[in-house]
Amino acid sequence: MSNVLVTGGAGYIGSHACKALKAAGFTPVTYDNLITGWEQAVKFGPFERGDLLDRERLDQVFAQYEPVAVMHFAALSQVGESMQDPGAYWRNNVSGSLTLIEAAVAAKCLNFVFSSTCATYGDQDNVVLDEQSAQHPINAYGASKRAIEDILRDFEPAHGLHHVIFRYFNVAGADPEGEVGEFHRPETHLIPVLLDAIDGKRDALTIHGTDYPTPDGTCIRDYVHVCDLVDAHVLGLKWLQDGKGSRVFNLGTGSGFSVREVMDHSREVTNREVPYSEGPRRAGDCTKLVSGSTRAESELGWTPTRSTMRSMITDAWRWHQNGHYDK
Ligand code: UDP
Repeated sequence: MSNVLVTGGAGYIGSHACKALKAAGFTPVTYDNLITGWEQAVKFGPFERGDLLDRERLDQVFAQYEPVAVMHFAALSQVGESMQDPGAYWRNNVSGSLTLIEAAVAAKCLNFVFSSTCATYGDQDNVVLDEQSAQHPINAYGASKRAIEDILRDFEPAHGLHHVIFRYFNVAGADPEGEVGEFHRPETHLIPVLLDAIDGKRDALTIHGTDYPTPDGTCIRDYVHVCDLVDAHVLGLKWLQDGKGSRVFNLGTGSGFSVREVMDHSREVTNREVPYSEGPRRAGDCTKLVSGSTRAESELGWTPTRSTMRSMITDAWRWHQNGHYDK
């Protein structure tokens, strides 16, 4: 069995990746400090509790499992929070990733799949973004992820560390079999917040800004189903194992949905009203982030099959009603 070290395997995307890795014949070894993750989400392989900044612990886990690759999901990932506490983002995301990358190199584990983000592109009004688009992040979260991309690019020629960088657009939905799903505390992401409001678990959704230069005044995002997203990661791992070299891929669908459009779809799927209020802009938000690239499809053979807004909300709603973790 081939072990893959999955940092953040107890989190939303990492736990879905573990399920996909197991289905593909790998053993996912979760490395997670459980600050934002959930031990109950670790269902598909061994669990090692640890922090990215703890080099000794990382060395021990690399030595114990001799992984063939790292999939690095562990990160702080909230745009708004990153504007209030940038130090946490630089320390955890950048210093933490550097520690992990150095541990991987020392252990001669030279295939590295990294979760980056469309937030590295920043605000480029009404541009459809491809992998060559300039990266000018406007929030500390995006800046921290861009810095990690730079580290990986430097480590390739120096240490032979091959990487696949995935720049995610907005990830949504849940495992249709209900084994894992999205569960953040506190929750800040649009779809789960909106479902909480529909369900009476919070008073209302606040729309963060209605004066953006978009047709309905709210921000536009490109949403991709978490299961499609993690399928791309398994393809990225195989890409590296086949010796195809380092590469960057956007993971989005090319379709943009405004906040109000996501609300409309949620109303249709759940057959319930969305209680909402209109609030000011949230610091750090870009107007529009939509992926224009088909590189992942043409080069990796990635075929998203679940990433319609309807099926993402349907799967998120099913999980919302049935699944949850507690500490
Ligand atoms: N959003 C909102 N209200 C919320 C949460 C999010 O209006 O309670 C908006 C947010 O301003 C952004 C979009 O929904 O335009 C997606 O935000 P999310 O936090 O889900 O992801 P992000 O794009 O920040 O990674």
